[in-house]
Amino acid sequence: MEIVVDLHTHTISSGHAYSTLADNALAASRRGIKLLGMTDHGPSMPGAPHLYHFGNLEILPEELHGVTILPGVEANITSHEGELDIPIRYLARMKVVLVGLHEICYPGGTTEENTQAYINAMKNPFTDMMVHPGRPQFELDLERIAYTSAELSIPVEINNSSLSSEKKGAWGNCRRFARYMLQYQGPIILGSDAHFSDLVGGFDHALSLVHEVGIKENQILNTSAERVLDYLATRRKNRPSILEA
Ligand SMILES: [Zn+2]
Ligand SMILES: [Zn+2]
Repeated sequence: MEIVVDLHTHTISSGHAYSTLADNALAASRRGIKLLGMTDHGPSMPGAPHLYHFGNLEILPEELHGVTILPGVEANITSHEGELDIPIRYLARMKVVLVGLHEICYPGGTTEENTQAYINAMKNPFTDMMVHPGRPQFELDLERIAYTSAELSIPVEINNSSLSSEKKGAWGNCRRFARYMLQYQGPIILGSDAHFSDLVGGFDHALSLVHEVGIKENQILNTSAERVLDYLATRRKNRPSILEA
């Protein structure tokens, strides 16, 4: 199984990541990555870029080192209603919108509240994909998320960084989540969540998990650059105009 797209990477703009977009693109090209998402943290995270960063993404080249660049964001869920920390008029112009829960940006809650916040964000027409449900910081109903992913055809991530050894508890959660995804057959995306260029396109842990659980290549969106681009294009075609949203 070959993963040719990495939509979840951070640059120095995120505040706690250490490489530039050019560094990440070079690393991606060396690893055979064809599409690279630049998804710095949304503005409510300490050290994350100001909204102006997200308003100027259009100046970036479409391609760097032979890799197609998809500028976007990893937006933060900020409430139990599933609100995001970046206005729709910014999201509407991005090539990729990832959404997740992070400490400090989200007040925390019961399993029910966290799950409802996550699912509400999944239903946002400007959300493309959901990230790292397996991180142990917030209790989530992983079966309901997997079921909703299949129902709405919204890809949910298996995050390589969550599975790096220092994040205790992540393997058990991610394994349970992967089994539910296999059961309900929602689309899966693997993400490196790289905060340094050497980690871009690195999926070792996520791949060993999907192999262990028995997930097949056709359930994983980023085994094909065309499938990812088709998905993102269709998603943009089907959403409301900014005026209606
Ligand atoms: Zn980060
Ligand atoms: Zn994250």
